Amino acid sequence: MELKIALAGNPNSGKTTVFNELTGSTQYVGNWPGVTVEKKEGRLKGYNDVGIIDLPGIYSLSPYSLEEVIARKYIMDEKPNVIINIVDASNIERNLYLTTQLIETGIPVVIAMNMMDIVNKNGTIIDADKLSASLGCPVLEISALKGDGIKELAQIAIKTAKQQQEFKPLNLFDNEVEQRLQKIKGIVKKDKADFKYDLGWLVIKLFEKDDKVLKSTNLSDKSFKAIDDIIHQYEVIADDDTESIIITQRYNYIEKLMSKYVKKKTNVKLNTSDNIDRVLTNRWLALPIFFGIMWFIYWVSISTLGDYFIGWVESLFEWISGGVETVLVNAGTVDWLQSLILDGIIGGVGGVLVFVPQLMILFFFISILEDCGYMARVAFIMDRIFRKFGLSGKSFIPMLIGTGCSIPGIMASRTIENDKDRKMTIMLTPFIPCGAKLPVFAMFIAMLFSQQTWVGPLMYFMGMAMVIISGVILKRTKLFKGDPAPFVMELPQYRMPRFKGVLIHMWERVKSFMIKAGTIILVAAVGIWFLQSFSFSFKFLGGENIENSMLAGVGNVFRYLFIPLGFGDSWAGGVATITGLIAKEVVVSTFAIIGTSTNVLFSQVSAFSFMVFTLFAAPCFAAIGAMKREFGSWRWTFIAVGYQTGIAYVFAMIINLAGGLIFKNTSAVTPVVLDPSAMEGASEGSVISGDIVLIIFGVLLTIAIITGIVNAINDAQYRRNINNKKGKMIA
Ligand code: GDP
Ligand code: MG
Repeated sequence: MELKIALAGNPNSGKTTVFNELTGSTQYVGNWPGVTVEKKEGRLKGYNDVGIIDLPGIYSLSPYSLEEVIARKYIMDEKPNVIINIVDASNIERNLYLTTQLIETGIPVVIAMNMMDIVNKNGTIIDADKLSASLGCPVLEISALKGDGIKELAQIAIKTAKQQQEFKPLNLFDNEVEQRLQKIKGIVKKDKADFKYDLGWLVIKLFEKDDKVLKSTNLSDKSFKAIDDIIHQYEVIADDDTESIIITQRYNYIEKLMSKYVKKKTNVKLNTSDNIDRVLTNRWLALPIFFGIMWFIYWVSISTLGDYFIGWVESLFEWISGGVETVLVNAGTVDWLQSLILDGIIGGVGGVLVFVPQLMILFFFISILEDCGYMARVAFIMDRIFRKFGLSGKSFIPMLIGTGCSIPGIMASRTIENDKDRKMTIMLTPFIPCGAKLPVFAMFIAMLFSQQTWVGPLMYFMGMAMVIISGVILKRTKLFKGDPAPFVMELPQYRMPRFKGVLIHMWERVKSFMIKAGTIILVAAVGIWFLQSFSFSFKFLGGENIENSMLAGVGNVFRYLFIPLGFGDSWAGGVATITGLIAKEVVVSTFAIIGTSTNVLFSQVSAFSFMVFTLFAAPCFAAIGAMKREFGSWRWTFIAVGYQTGIAYVFAMIINLAGGLIFKNTSAVTPVVLDPSAMEGASEGSVISGDIVLIIFGVLLTIAIITGIVNAINDAQYRRNINNKKGKMIA
C-alpha cells in the first residue's frame, strides 16, 4: 500500500529542510517565512511506496490566507496517512496552536520538535514524554539542520500510519463549549447529511462559523437553523463570538501544557541575535546600513570583482570563436552557416554567458544575506517604511525573492491575505531587478559607465523607490484603497551562513540562468540572427546592407515609439526592447548580434534611459504568464503590464529629456558605438585597480574560511552536548 506522509507546520519551522533530509532533494530553503507556497511531493529515501508532501507553512487551519487554504484542502480532502507536524521548538507556544488543530482532524499526527540545537543552546528543557502523553501522539526531538533524529522520525511516522490507533480527542475546551459542541454533534448526526470530514472536526468548524466548511456540507436548512441558534445564544451569554472563544481556549490549553512541561531558563539575557538587532534594525541606522550593504554587493559584483572576471570569460569566448572559425573556414563551410554559428550562436549566447561571473557573485552575496537571517530583518525594516505609505511589509518578501527571478517572487505573493495588497504586490514585484536584467545593466555599465560605480546599485534602489512611489499612487486609486494588512513576522535567529547552503542557492540560480542560455536564449538568438541576416526576399545579406534585413524592417516600425526616450535613432534599440520580452538576457544577445554588422549608437544619457526602461517595462513572457496565473484574470494582467510599461516609458522619457538638457554639449550625450565584444577593453580603463580587486577577493576568501571554521566548532560542540545527553539518558 502506498503511504502518504504530509509535513505541516508554521512558516519557517524547517519543513522544507526536513523534506530535503527525508527525500534527498534540494528544494529551496530560505531563512524567512513564506518560501514554500505550493505543496511539493517527493519519496522517502529508501522507500518506494512512501510519498512525502511538503505543505506551505501555516499558522492555523482556519483559512485566512491562500496557503492556509492549500494546506487545509490537502489535509482534509486527500487525507494523508500521517501528518508530521514540524514544530519550531524554540517557539513552541505559538507552534502548538496549529498542533492542536492538526490533532483535531483525526488524522494520526507525529510531532517533530525541530530546532533542538537552538533550544538546547538557550537552556530550555522540554519534557517530550509527558507532552506526548498529554497530546496523545509521539513527540520526537530533532534538528533538521544537523540531520539529527530524521531517521527515527521517518520510522515512527511509518509505524504510526500503519497502527491505525483509535483517535483520542484533546480536552481543549471548557464545559460550556463542550456541551454545545455535543449538541451540534447530535444535530449533525441526526441530519444524516454526507460530510467528508471527521465529525469532531466538522463540529468545531461549524461552531466557529467557518464559511468554507459550512458551504461544503449539505445539512438541511432546519439543522442549520438549529446550529445557528445554539451559537447565537451562546455568543450572547459569553459576550464574545465563538471563533474568538475557541481561539482563547486553545491558547489557555497550550499555556497549561507549557507551564507543566516546558522549563525556560529564567532571566535570559539579551542573546547575541538581540544585540545585533539593536544595531541592524535600529530606527535610524537600519536603512543606511541596508543601502550600504546593497551598494557594496552591487559594486563588488558588477563593477569590481565581476568586471575583472568578465575579461577572462570574454577571452575564453574569443578563443572558442577563433578556433571554431578556423575549423569552419578550413572545412569550406558556406557563408551563412559560418555566420549563423559565429555571429548568431556563439555571439548571441556567449554575449549573455559572459555575465555568469557577475551573477554568481551577486547571488553568492544575496544567499549569504538570506541564510544568516539578515533579509528577514530587511522585511521588518521595510515594513516600518512601507507602512508609512500605506503598504504592508508582507509585500517585501515576494520582492526579495524577485531579486533572483520575478516568477517565484510573484508566486510568493500568495502569502498576503488581503486581496488588494496581493494584487498590488504581484504588479510591483517585477520592478525589483531580477537576475536576467542584470546582464543588460552590466553590459551598459561596462561600456559606458565604467567610471560611475554608483550606476549598478542605483538600478536596485530605483526599483525599490518605484515600488514605494507606485504604492503611494496606487493606494489612492479605487482599485487598491484600504488599510495595509498587519504584518507579524518572527525574526529568525542570526546564524553563520552554511557554506553548503549558500553554494546550493547560488548554484540553483546560476543553473537556471545557464539552462535558459542553452534553450530560450539560444532559440531567440538564432531567430534574431535569421531576421537580421536575410532580407524580406530571403536573400542572405552576409552582414552587408543590414538596413535591408527583416529585423531592420521590423525595428523601423517600432523605432519612432522610442525616439522620445532617446534610443529610437537607430532601429536596434527598438528591436532590443521587443526581444527583451522573450527573456531580458536576449536584449544583450540582440545587441551582440546586431553589433557585428552595424553600428549601434548609445550615449550615456540614452543608455541610462534604456536601462531604466528595461528596469520598469513589462517583464518577460514567462513572468507575465505567472502574473496571469496569480491574478487569475487577463484584465488584471493587462492593467499590470500596461502600468509597468507606462511607468517605464514616462521615466525613460524624463531621463532622456532632462539628461539632454543638463548634459548639453558634454560627453554624456555624445553617442559612442556599442560593441559588446569589446567589454574587456572597457574594464581596463576603469578606475578600479587590480589591487583592489585582489583585496576584495582576499577578504571574501577569509570570510569563507572563518565561517567554515566557526561552523565546524559549533557542530563539534553540538555533538558533544548531544552525546552527553544521550549518556545521561542511558545512565
Ligand atoms: P519552512 O519554511 O518551514 O519550509 O522552513 P525551512 O526549511 O525553509 O527552514 C527555515 C530556516 O530554518 C532555514 O534557515 C533553515 O536552515 C533553518 N532550520 C531548519 N531546521 C533547523 C534546525 O534544526 N536548527 C536550526 N538552527 N535551524 C534550522
Ligand atoms: Mg518551506
